[in-house]
Amino acid sequence: MIFEIEEIPEGGLNFDVLVGKDHFEIDQSDCALTDAVKVRGKLTRIEREVCFSGDLEAPLLVTCTRCLKLFPLQVKNIVRIHFVPREKKSSPGSEVEIKETDIEQEIYEENRVDLHGPIRDQILLDVPLIRLCQDDCKGICPECGNDRNSDPCGCENDGQIDPRFAVLQKLKEKMK
Ligand SMILES: [Zn+2]
Ligand SMILES: [Zn+2]
Repeated sequence: MIFEIEEIPEGGLNFDVLVGKDHFEIDQSDCALTDAVKVRGKLTRIEREVCFSGDLEAPLLVTCTRCLKLFPLQVKNIVRIHFVPREKKSSPGSEVEIKETDIEQEIYEENRVDLHGPIRDQILLDVPLIRLCQDDCKGICPECGNDRNSDPCGCENDGQIDPRFAVLQKLKEKMK
């Protein structure tokens, strides 16, 4: 997904590609790509500025926030990227001025734009902070460590003090 900007025609450039997962280096133990990422959309250029507008589909394996088991999660979202060329001659003081729109901008160099970095960022942004293997995942028992989905343990610690806090509580009392 590297494009020479001179090769982007006036009417824009449509593409629909599968990009191998190795291009993105998303391979953490709690979040990993399992297959190629589908990217499709259109690149357009107005003078030196390049825009990409399209969508992505990425198959991931992530851990459940409650029970920590891995489960497949398909991420789909729209992508908009705005590339601007790196200005070689910048007047003093111009770097300090940060416009609000700059946050969304990618800088490109050597007359080519590379979509891999921004697409990778977008995939990671699309992974929710709270992700559940099933809507009613019961999670892990804080007392005995059982996965309460497959192995209900019968511990009754609801409303009770966390054992770690109980230890602290005792220490506090000793120090009085
Ligand atoms: Zn779960
Ligand atoms: Zn238990």
